[in-house]
Amino acid sequence: MNLSELPAGSVALAWALMGLMVGSFLNVCIYRLPREGMSVGRPRRSHCPACNTELGWIENVPLLSWIIQAGRCRTCSARISLRYPLVEISNAGLWYLAASLAGPNAWPLWCCWSVVLSGLLVASMVDFDCFQIPDEVSLGGCVLAPLACLWVPGLQGETLLALVLSDDPGGGVDRVGALLACLAGMGVGACVLLLIGALGKKLYGAEAMGLGDVKLLAAGGGFVGPGGALAALAVAALVASVFGLLNMLRFFILSRSRARGRGRSAGIRRSLRVARLAGRYLPFGPFLGLGIGIVLLAWDDLSILWI
Ligand SMILES: [Zn+2]
Repeated sequence: MNLSELPAGSVALAWALMGLMVGSFLNVCIYRLPREGMSVGRPRRSHCPACNTELGWIENVPLLSWIIQAGRCRTCSARISLRYPLVEISNAGLWYLAASLAGPNAWPLWCCWSVVLSGLLVASMVDFDCFQIPDEVSLGGCVLAPLACLWVPGLQGETLLALVLSDDPGGGVDRVGALLACLAGMGVGACVLLLIGALGKKLYGAEAMGLGDVKLLAAGGGFVGPGGALAALAVAALVASVFGLLNMLRFFILSRSRARGRGRSAGIRRSLRVARLAGRYLPFGPFLGLGIGIVLLAWDDLSILWI
């Protein structure tokens, strides 16, 4: 079937609806993966975290249940975080973006992109909550990347190394080229962060980079190639620095106004310490996820020539 014969945008919209439903499953992953004794399949049904009532299907309809129940549990009226519908909508948006950027007929490509983007969403949210990136996502991505590249060599279609190594008369990327670029991307992604971590440890004497970040960039590199892995890290570092500085400034101002409220004039040093502490406790995973996601959808190794 030629999907491009369908009305423009309808394929992407249908895919986004699928993304909305999968988003509901991602919420389960985000909640359960970092918790001991829980897994994606256990317990079988979801429970209200407040009253422990098992949720029926009517309470599990993505987005709609939350709206109809006005963000509260049907049994105990406990508030249900706005994050649940937001994760569902975000995933729908990401899947829409993947399908519309790849074009209606390139469904294997957009399927892979969507899975990667959902994985990044889960990794980012869990890291944001618990300062850890679940191995299920990062190591799972490392296993999935080579398989995906063998299935859809076009995943590495914009990777210079893959283009050079491919023996394709049409000038595209073949399986061997895609697989080698994938492995090189995983190697570069892991090595560059291990190197930065070792350097940071030498300079500051403290753990600068978590192993979770290393594994996440390795998995990401498997999908975007070696150049893409470096580009993703650059985007992540840039956004994280801006965000980190703003976050430190926010805590500095907050601490100052609190000290003034208590009638204390001194204490600038204390506020600076609070700000520095706030800067240190910023998870890097969400920024790495953002960088990998942007590079996955928008990066072309040749675009470095334009910079
Ligand atoms: Zn409840």
